[in-house]
Amino acid sequence: MNYQYDIVVIGGGPAGYAAAIRAGQLKKRVLCVEKEDLGGTCLNWGCIPTKALLESGAFIRRLREHPAEWGVSFDNLSIDFSAIIGRSRDIAGKLSKGIAHLFSKYGVKHERGTATVLAAGKIRLVSSAGAQDITAKDILIATGARARALPGIDFDGDRIISSREAMSLKQQPKHLAIIGAGAIGCEFSDFYNALGTKVTLIEMLDHILPIEDEDCSIVLERSFAKRGIDVHTRTRTQQVEKTGTGVKLTVSNSRGVQTIEADKVLLAVGVTGNIQGLFGLDLTIELVKNHIKVDASYQTSVRGIWAAGDVIGPPWLAHVAHHEAVACVEHICGVHAETIDYANVPGCTYTHPQVASVGLTERKCREDNRDIKIGKFPFAASGRALAAGQTEGFTKLIFDAKTGALLGAHMIGENVTEMLAGLVVARKLETTEDQIIEAMHPHPTMSEAIMEAAGVAFGRAIHL
Ligand code: FAD
Repeated sequence: MNYQYDIVVIGGGPAGYAAAIRAGQLKKRVLCVEKEDLGGTCLNWGCIPTKALLESGAFIRRLREHPAEWGVSFDNLSIDFSAIIGRSRDIAGKLSKGIAHLFSKYGVKHERGTATVLAAGKIRLVSSAGAQDITAKDILIATGARARALPGIDFDGDRIISSREAMSLKQQPKHLAIIGAGAIGCEFSDFYNALGTKVTLIEMLDHILPIEDEDCSIVLERSFAKRGIDVHTRTRTQQVEKTGTGVKLTVSNSRGVQTIEADKVLLAVGVTGNIQGLFGLDLTIELVKNHIKVDASYQTSVRGIWAAGDVIGPPWLAHVAHHEAVACVEHICGVHAETIDYANVPGCTYTHPQVASVGLTERKCREDNRDIKIGKFPFAASGRALAAGQTEGFTKLIFDAKTGALLGAHMIGENVTEMLAGLVVARKLETTEDQIIEAMHPHPTMSEAIMEAAGVAFGRAIHL
């Protein structure tokens, strides 16, 4: 059959655009169909705009907290909420345009419109120009995921909102309730608290950031509480009612039932795959819990139809989406494809302090009865952290006691997300404690805490 394209990619997020660019590099005739702006959730409504907001929040907090200590004084600090939102939206817009530039550099064709997969080799594109069927030898679905509501509590875009609305509000809420204390819930708590909004954060599980090492979650909980964020863990949301001007939440925990009144409630309880309306009536693709099921090369249950990124399920992270999609295209093209090690996926939360981790938590090691050595180095003992006035937190490394292999790394502190890549490489290279201790770490940097934490684990730390 004479196909119009070698590969059609549906979705222009970190999975879709990376796949399309890689296919272009491999000299394939490739089309990327995206119904909104290029860049997907990550660039437009996720990773990047939230980090822009968090930087504004951190800047304001730094000015507010102990300015005299820094030799600064001022009479009045006023905040322009719409300028903060505007800066974040501008940054998202710039990056989206950058993807279009990369597409033209690598010969990727782009259509704005909504795609439906009709069969292997055929999609229907509906755009402002009308509907057309397009053929391609391979189809890669990278349609991502969207915020999930709670049973009986649906989004209304005004008072019961998702992260999309939370990052583009016209007016700063006085009181924001947030349900779900994963990375997204914690980041919005951090941002709105810095601006002076009263924040109530509700989490059903034992700790905020429940998938992180407990030690990091506890430090962040304390830090949030100190700053006035009202954190309710082990608390279930039973009901959300709209009132005359806001919302009333009914929550319950071991202390009983309580009501919380707020202007708005942000639901940050997870995502669900974008598969609605994606398949023609004659096509059946195997799904798992609202996500597309794939094999190790990212092929779906139908030959020639592939899927990668958030639409295939957790971990829902931009860097995972990117690596899966590139590996998928390499499988399609028959070149050497990356094997993704899901045990070595970095996780970052950009609160203040930040949380960054890779590998096993202490709890998981104990559950698996592993013989481990743990080294923890507090930033309070780091000269660089003291100079920066950012001594909260620590670096915690977990090693196999016999082999010295690095099993897990967990950090909480200023800018620790920037320190994490080194530890991901260390795990990829199966580095041991000796190699970490003997690798010269630059002074003075926060990253010296990595070398010192390895030293603490094996009784070789110099500064503790
Ligand atoms: P998406 O980025 O969602 O892209 C899918 C694209 O497909 C969308 O643009 C959509 O419009 C398009 N599409 C869907 N259906 C169709 C169709 N039928 N036809 C045409 N186009 C279609 N991850 C991190 O790693 N770090 C972070 O700091 C981080 N922060 C986040 C903050 C927030 C508030 C949110 C919501 C998410 C965050 N994430 C973060 C997650 C990250 O954004 C996602 O993991 C990532 O965007 C997934 O990439 P993707 O390409 O699979 O899907």
